[in-house]
Amino acid sequence: MYPRFDRATALSMLDPPTHNEADHHLGALAKKNRLRSPYSFANINLLGRCNVDCYFCLGKDLDTEYSRHRNLGEHFSNWQRWNDFIAVVKALEIPWVFVTGQNTDSLTYSRLGELLKHLRSIGLKAGIRTNGVLAKKLIDTVNLAQSVSYSIHTRDPETQRRIMGITEVPDWDWLLRNTICDRLRVAVVLNRYNRQEIYDLLEWLGTFDRIGYVQVRKICTDNRYELLRQDMQIFEDFEQEVAAKFPVARIFETANVYLMFGREVAFWRTVATTVNSVNYFTNGTLTGNYFIVEGYSEQNLIPLGTTEFLSPDGLTFSWLKRDGKLADAREALLPARG
Ligand code: SF4
Repeated sequence: MYPRFDRATALSMLDPPTHNEADHHLGALAKKNRLRSPYSFANINLLGRCNVDCYFCLGKDLDTEYSRHRNLGEHFSNWQRWNDFIAVVKALEIPWVFVTGQNTDSLTYSRLGELLKHLRSIGLKAGIRTNGVLAKKLIDTVNLAQSVSYSIHTRDPETQRRIMGITEVPDWDWLLRNTICDRLRVAVVLNRYNRQEIYDLLEWLGTFDRIGYVQVRKICTDNRYELLRQDMQIFEDFEQEVAAKFPVARIFETANVYLMFGREVAFWRTVATTVNSVNYFTNGTLTGNYFIVEGYSEQNLIPLGTTEFLSPDGLTFSWLKRDGKLADAREALLPARG
């Protein structure tokens, strides 16, 4: 059903990164490590519309561009270059494929169950990453995945509103007990709003034996450095604090993994890790660049780099330069969320 590529052909399909130092406009907190390990996983990056609105969402880096594509109602076999993507994954012997969202959540995809079953039927390990909002309702679909990563940033409705734009907090107690998969993971994006509760959150996560791994993630961006620099610094300061209190259990792809409250907790800097992935977007973009916004931009000839400014009414805008013009990429309105 799928074409067969040899390794060299598969690598040529990925158009390796040009290493054009596309991050020259970013500050020290966002400098990228260009050393890469062999590919160990691939992402299916859904393009659509999310059911929440995280202010740090990486999808906002190319908001105008991504928003032109809405693939959540299509069968995956109709996505452009789907066959090429699977053939590349097979040729490179990549074991894991994760369904995730670039500007949406995996559980918003109407064919997710069918997709997970299909990936498993062709010998791949299938995982999902999700914000959990729809997980209780769709628990049977969630449990088709062999790896589930929940994004849990807070348990407090008001903090949830500040971070994600909604007050509804998923029933995490129930979900963490009723999600049945080989690998259950939790990702916590550390930021200005949940810093004060991070120890309580990690201690609470430590009470769930079934969680294999917790990631505390540093926010990353290719286009909104000034807007998010404060959160990146909070991460750096917090790790220094943790390093003085908790032992390092191991190091994974440059990330320190601490033993905290009985659980392994990795401090994850996307810009610093050496891990590597193939990235497929449901509009047919296929890239071997781990840095996902950069990879998409290279493939679609979109120059990175923005001009950010604070407008007179206190709202922050970011304008994406495209074809030499300024597009209307209105970005996260942090002050409005207070
Ligand atoms: S859940 Fe993910 S895709 Fe949705 S807004 Fe948050 S970061 Fe973006």
